[in-house]
Amino acid sequence: MSVPGEGLVKGLAVTLKTMTRRSHTQQYPDVEPDLPPRSRGVIALLEENCTVCMLCARECPDWCIYIDSHKEEVVVPGAARARQRNVLDRFDIDFSLCMYCGICIEACPFDALYWTPEFEYAEYDIRDLLHDKERLGDWMATVPPPPVHDPNGEPSKEESTAAKKALPAGDRPAPAGPVGRRGPASSPRSSERTSPADEAET
Ligand code: SF4
Ligand code: SF4
Repeated sequence: MSVPGEGLVKGLAVTLKTMTRRSHTQQYPDVEPDLPPRSRGVIALLEENCTVCMLCARECPDWCIYIDSHKEEVVVPGAARARQRNVLDRFDIDFSLCMYCGICIEACPFDALYWTPEFEYAEYDIRDLLHDKERLGDWMATVPPPPVHDPNGEPSKEESTAAKKALPAGDRPAPAGPVGRRGPASSPRSSERTSPADEAET
């Protein structure tokens, strides 16, 4: 048999217990949250790496990547004929449709797309969630640096190449012959890296 007022007393007991506990509320926006570096906030575009291969747009399950381009002739001194290269005219991502699956970033073979933990881009007008290539490029400044290389792991391809170049000419190992697909560099900010857009010239 229930005692009248028992529920009220239990409720007040919970209230009193909670009042004496320390609060864990994060005071956002006064205090910025400390997000993990791999948080999926927004997608950044490194335009010079984009070869307009369209893989990201084709793989996007929401069809929210819009790409336009044109071809340009590049005259190479000494070459028998002019080469053609793709020039990116438009690269937009509609974040009102994006479901942050990351497939476009995984699909890009040239490391042109990156996650950044930046999330403060809410808009009053939904149309403003369409970010063009300039805005996507601006997000590159917020991409966290790649993780530190495992000291016990194998050296990266870039480190091995740099070590070989540092050796005197006679001590360098013979080239291994033709290789397959060249992988992209690990760092988006590597100044030594050649642009895949140049590599894609035909
Ligand atoms: S994260 Fe997913 S939904 Fe968003 S643009 Fe990339 S592929 Fe499309
Ligand atoms: S971002 Fe990557 S996958 Fe998308 S078109 Fe450019 S190079 Fe291709």
